[in-house]
Amino acid sequence: MADCLFCKIIDRDVPATLVHEDGDLVAFEDINPGAPTHVLIVPRRHIATLNDLLADDHDLVGRMVRRAALIARDRGFAEAGYRTVFNCNADAGQSVYHIHLHLLGGRKLAWPPG
Ligand code: AMP
Ligand code: ZN
Repeated sequence: MADCLFCKIIDRDVPATLVHEDGDLVAFEDINPGAPTHVLIVPRRHIATLNDLLADDHDLVGRMVRRAALIARDRGFAEAGYRTVFNCNADAGQSVYHIHLHLLGGRKLAWPPG
């Protein structure tokens, strides 16, 4: 989508530090990390919010979550623990309208979030 920041990162029109890419997903470092690891996992296809997911997207979302677990394992904090978050729409503070799974880890995380 023309005016979407994460589509531009996927298309390499905006720079980012890539962590992983495959046919369906791209993962990159969050520009304003909230933890020692803060990675965003995004589908290549533009999907604005969780509310726009289709039944056919079950596998895609599963692969996003699995990718988070694999990155946590690769970075050595899978057993210590980590958090995955999807923010949806204004009340959750969604600021980029292309779905993304936050992976936060590498320190003890407080609960609940604000
Ligand atoms: P959300 O508030 O859930 O929509 O999360 C959007 C995230 O994108 C925030 O954590 C931002 O720090 C992050 N972000 C914004 N611009 C960039 C960028 N150019 N590269 C990497 N991460 C970004
Ligand atoms: Zn997009």
